[in-house]
Amino acid sequence: MASRRNIAPAIGIDLGTTYSCVAVWQNNRAEIIPNDQGNRITPSCVAFTEDGRLLGDAAKNQTDMNPTNTVFAVKRLIGRRFSDSIVQNDVKYWPFKVVAGPKDRPKIVVNYRGVEKQFYAEEISSMVLVKMKEIAETYLGSIVKNAIITVPAYFNDSQRQATKNAGAIAGLNVMRIMDEPTAAAIAYGFDKITKGRKKTLKKTKDKKKKSVLIFDLGGGTFDVSLLSVVHGKFVVQATTGDTHLGGEDFDDRLVEHCVKEFKKKYNKDITGNAKSLRRLRTACERAKRMLSSSVMTSIDVDYLYEGVDFSTRISRARFEELNKELFTRCTDLIEKCLSDAKIDKTGVDVVVLVGGSTRIPKIQQLVQDFFKGKELCMGIHPDEAVAYGAAIQAANLNGERDKDVKNLVLVDVTPLSLGVCDNDGKMTFVVPRNTPIPTKKMTSRVTAIDNQTSCLISIYEGEIADSKYNNLLAEFTLDGIEPAPKGVSKVDVCFDIDADGILTVSAEVKSSGHKKKIVISKQNGDLTAAEIQKMIEDAAHYKAEDEKHKARISLEYLAEKLKSMAMDSGCSASEMKTMEEKAENAIAWLETNHHAEIGEINKQLKELKTTFPALCEEN
Ligand code: AMP
Repeated sequence: MASRRNIAPAIGIDLGTTYSCVAVWQNNRAEIIPNDQGNRITPSCVAFTEDGRLLGDAAKNQTDMNPTNTVFAVKRLIGRRFSDSIVQNDVKYWPFKVVAGPKDRPKIVVNYRGVEKQFYAEEISSMVLVKMKEIAETYLGSIVKNAIITVPAYFNDSQRQATKNAGAIAGLNVMRIMDEPTAAAIAYGFDKITKGRKKTLKKTKDKKKKSVLIFDLGGGTFDVSLLSVVHGKFVVQATTGDTHLGGEDFDDRLVEHCVKEFKKKYNKDITGNAKSLRRLRTACERAKRMLSSSVMTSIDVDYLYEGVDFSTRISRARFEELNKELFTRCTDLIEKCLSDAKIDKTGVDVVVLVGGSTRIPKIQQLVQDFFKGKELCMGIHPDEAVAYGAAIQAANLNGERDKDVKNLVLVDVTPLSLGVCDNDGKMTFVVPRNTPIPTKKMTSRVTAIDNQTSCLISIYEGEIADSKYNNLLAEFTLDGIEPAPKGVSKVDVCFDIDADGILTVSAEVKSSGHKKKIVISKQNGDLTAAEIQKMIEDAAHYKAEDEKHKARISLEYLAEKLKSMAMDSGCSASEMKTMEEKAENAIAWLETNHHAEIGEINKQLKELKTTFPALCEEN
């Protein structure tokens, strides 16, 4: 029985660095939606080929053959500047090209149908979202618009806004940008993933408030959040993390190790060869996974570079050694989270592990040791928990009537402190980190010189007292201050953070009432409304191209099938001739009509199907 009729479904999407996952609330439970291959997670991968665009598994499966046009891990680029040292470091090891676009925003360069194309990270992410939307639509049999997209809790304002824009480009109505660990905490609270039956928050209802620590280590990001959970109310106490720490970094370390070994053995440097690097990376990721269950494995790549094979053995101990510093960073961040929440490690009731990289035994051991041998909760699926929790929250926002969903209360926090720069360059903190959101906070500034008529408002995020070491989000000048001796005129500055964690700052001259307001990320070199509109139109174009490509493949497949049927079906010579002729005509038509519109291709398809209804039976 559907839990609510006549209501458009709302989905939860975990848009991951390596894999994405989509879930929906249906029949009084959240369900993970499998893709067209039957997989419950889909690679966050987009490929561009001579024939068209490929998404998800289809894109990942052809990576080694087409490395420079297969794009992955764009979550590491989204909302960042090209000159960012993190971006510079990543692109060194990526087989696809990334260049500096306008306003220092990274652009991904690919060859699509023989033409060079450049895309922003938002556009590539939107393509992954299109795939997730389609997976949900196929499963639900209806159009899906409403969605929650999750992001690492430690994503900054610009990364959140960019993710929201990616959703809009994909044709989604993004109801909320939700923090991944918070979604995982909801999944934990509902505790239905492994049990597959309704077992609601009643479980925690009768008990006292629990402090739940979510340790979320995925493909590209790491978050640690502490929440209090009671009576279906989830309150984030503190969150911290690293938006650039995860499985991809562990892969990098292995790749680096192998590149050095290859150089030492054969005196050959493979770093300039995209195909070799990509193939080595695939083998390293596989070896990393193997080392979660074995203590020794091998990395073998035939003809890795200039005809030379590569083969090496790697032990779990060596892998741990290579990543030692990265692993330790994870426990350092747990310490920071607990200290922000002002709670001792003994006060944590439950430690929940989510994210694919928490399968690494050393990570599990380090977390367990940190909590002095405490049993870790691994009962919720590490790859699915985030989408699962997001689907529950999506159902809540969508007006689902199920009691437990309806009563869900979520209080999130802002991950980084926000403030303005004083006249002497010091940071005035307006919203301290870990402040519950939505929130509104004010500060006042006075004029620094006599007869000052305008005031520069510089907005920063970060924790350092000297503003210049923090991240400048935006600046604007407020005019309309009436001339007066210094220190007399006052400007009120208001920080308003919405439930998505997106910040709007407004400033007002007290005496004249003159005002100015900005939504930070829109002014910060990110996409304008017109740019987003253009990308929405482009996305529709790419979708139409995909459909055309699919229709061409169907026509080609039917024609080839007809040819083989003509040979095998035991029909008369004249029937055989007609079949062969029709099939050859269709193939010739495809060859001479490369730019045919979808309507024309479908017309050809229809003609074949109506002439040979037997074909329709199976297709
Ligand atoms: P997520 O972003 O949560 O989907 O996590 C993806 C990351 O988990 C990728 O870097 C994978 O290589 C990694 N991963 C998945 N399974 C394993 C495993 N068995 N051992 C180590 N890492 C894994």
